[in-house]
Amino acid sequence: MVLIVWLYVGFSINEYQKLKMDNSSVELEDKLDFFLFKWFTISAIIVLTLAVIVANVVYLRNKKQRKYYKNIIDSSSNIVVVVDKKSIIDVNRTFFKYFNKYKNLDDFKKEHDSISDFFVEKEGYVLKSKEGLNWLDYLIKNPHDNQVKIIYNDKKYYFTVGVSLISAEEGHYSAIFSDITKEKIYQKKLEYTNITDALTNIRNRYYYNEQIKKEASNANRYSYALSLIIFDVDYFKKINDKQGHDIGDKVLIEYTGLISSLLRKGDIFCRIGGEEFALILPHTDKEDAYVIAQKLRVAIQEHKKIVPLTMSFGVVEYIKDEDIELTFKRADEALYEAKDKGRNRVVTK
Ligand code: GH3
Ligand code: MG
Ligand code: MG
Repeated sequence: MVLIVWLYVGFSINEYQKLKMDNSSVELEDKLDFFLFKWFTISAIIVLTLAVIVANVVYLRNKKQRKYYKNIIDSSSNIVVVVDKKSIIDVNRTFFKYFNKYKNLDDFKKEHDSISDFFVEKEGYVLKSKEGLNWLDYLIKNPHDNQVKIIYNDKKYYFTVGVSLISAEEGHYSAIFSDITKEKIYQKKLEYTNITDALTNIRNRYYYNEQIKKEASNANRYSYALSLIIFDVDYFKKINDKQGHDIGDKVLIEYTGLISSLLRKGDIFCRIGGEEFALILPHTDKEDAYVIAQKLRVAIQEHKKIVPLTMSFGVVEYIKDEDIELTFKRADEALYEAKDKGRNRVVTK
């Protein structure tokens, strides 16, 4: 480049000096016009040629760089989506491993504007829009509230999403979806195991302790009725002794299944001891809880599967601001009164 400019300047000065020496002043004026025209044209051609070369170099370099970055995002096992606030600009290869109905982004865009079309609207997850913000703005503002649940082809996937600004001029962001489905399923299994009784599959004592606290606090806050029923199998020891422990287990499974089938959604049924159960009844007063306990008692008595048996029930209504230990104690006292009075009965306190 420097050589071209140097040659160009050298040649033109050389020719200009020759012209000055060889010609008279009139001739010189004409020849100077031609001289200027000629060198102006040469200059224009050189400048244009250089511009084309520079443009090509820049274009090729950009193309190479784009390919380089495309290769990087394609090699990621996470879904990478480049978006602006309105639509998807680009996606990586992994995107199509999940959304495998589509061959390319244009295909996808014929049916969807955004990956958020697949977000499951569930509390605790990023939604299509929340607090008046679309999902992208919400994530920019709340980067830690970043779990997404997606259902595609009837399969559930869980992701965490990280959003970063990649071009302030164009307003482009990258959203990286990391698949946490395995961890999430494991965590859910663990949570389920923690709150489930292994024998009967109903909720366990730990769950009872958690839920009674929560329900008592809600009942205090929103002033609604809450009742508790504690019940226990009558003479269960005899069943074990006569039929064996295994049959005893089967009896527990059979009768908890029967009780579960008679409950409403929202009732909380837990095994709190060997053959002792608790039923938390939100939005239920003592009179209604008594009716429910009687219904269960009669159904149990009439069930007679595996081994005929009966149960005794203690029913109480939670008193506002009462210590839940005290509520339990009252229900337990009612249960023991039912046992004392001859079993297979319901006592309220
Ligand atoms: P009551 O009418 O006074 O309640 O008499 P009961 O025989 O039911 O009460 P007790 O407390 O004397 O006996 C309860 C029995 O329940 C003793 C225990 O071996 C049995 N049990 C506790 N957990 C299980 C279990 O998981 N499986 C089986 N098969 N039996 C259990
Ligand atoms: Mg018993
Ligand atoms: Mg007992």
